[in-house]
Amino acid sequence: MKLAGRVSQVTPSITLAIAAKAKAMKADGIDVCSFSAGEPDFDTPAHIKAAAQTALESGKTKYGPAAGEPKLREAIANKLKTDNGLDYKPENVIVTNGGKHSLFNLMLALIDAGDEVIIPAPYWLSYPEMVTLAGGTSVIVTTNASTGYKITPEMLRKAITPKTKLFVLNSPSNPTGMVYSPEEIKALAEVIVEADIFVVSDEIYEKILYDGAKHLTIGSLGEKIFAKTIISNGFAKAYSMTGWRIGYLAGPAELIKATITIQSHSTSNVCTFAQYGAIAALESSQDCVQEMLQAFTKRRKVMLEALNSIPGLSCSKPDGAFYLFPDISKTGLKSLDFSSALLEEHQVAVIPGVAFGADKNIRLSYATDMETIQKGMERLEKFVKARI
Ligand code: PLP
Repeated sequence: MKLAGRVSQVTPSITLAIAAKAKAMKADGIDVCSFSAGEPDFDTPAHIKAAAQTALESGKTKYGPAAGEPKLREAIANKLKTDNGLDYKPENVIVTNGGKHSLFNLMLALIDAGDEVIIPAPYWLSYPEMVTLAGGTSVIVTTNASTGYKITPEMLRKAITPKTKLFVLNSPSNPTGMVYSPEEIKALAEVIVEADIFVVSDEIYEKILYDGAKHLTIGSLGEKIFAKTIISNGFAKAYSMTGWRIGYLAGPAELIKATITIQSHSTSNVCTFAQYGAIAALESSQDCVQEMLQAFTKRRKVMLEALNSIPGLSCSKPDGAFYLFPDISKTGLKSLDFSSALLEEHQVAVIPGVAFGADKNIRLSYATDMETIQKGMERLEKFVKARI
């Protein structure tokens, strides 16, 4: 069959493929320790589920507006004001089928053939693929542990050309977990304003912060940067709502209107009753977020100590998200060979860093129970020791 040319330009998501393989092995009765999924292991909080159930029972089962339920758009605008200091009206907000879909809508609405999008590596693996699908060109700027896996203002300035349209900022980051400090965000904002490019701030992990780290939304730094900022966020990570598929995009009204038009011809609205769960997530107590964060904090400590006690591995301490990104280069293995052999020989699933543009690393998610973490770290130690 002759498929469209764009198909050959993208690859299937490695993270989803490995997570699926680990799940299939588990279903076959194999004792797998999986650190592959970017998914909190908690159930969605009961009050969120109850709100969706009530909506379902009261007939919120029909098509809704392509832009999202008005009440949810308003709740999101309020959240962006209260949490992030951003002055958006509901018409600046579109509700999407998850953060991934937010970014996809954005790329389709903003990026033309020939436009360049600057993406710091290590990056979340879908960014470059989305740029490609939109016909644009990704300009990857490689960072490493020496700058804490962060792009510096100098690096950003150097990557900008007359074709640059968008810069992708992801803090806290998947896969490294790093968080840009407020000073670093300010310095990047200056470059963005000066170059007159757009920035999309992917803030899906904004609530998952440790050791007093602060999340500063780049668009809150003044009118000029606000006009160039698009926020992408969602409910999956903070509220353990991965399967609900609800995210949002906020930004200049003209751009949001364009994404609504695109969405109206692709997915129509997001599941109507699910959006009522999202309203409850934003408008009810945030204690559930704190409870999950406490569990992540304990697991992060245990996994980080275990990783750094394995001779040959080294891992910096990230301030956010729920991933660790150790350097495996001393084993002499490339990340895909490392991950495949680890899964085959010791039934431990991790994601090869090459998927994120960093072949010297692997990504481990600690959004899993403590017993799995302990068992998995013992297996990993055996695997690495045999190779060092
Ligand atoms: N952005 C980043 C950095 C992510 O890690 C993810 C999910 O893994 C998303 C966006 C999309 O999340 P979702 O589509 O589940 O809301």
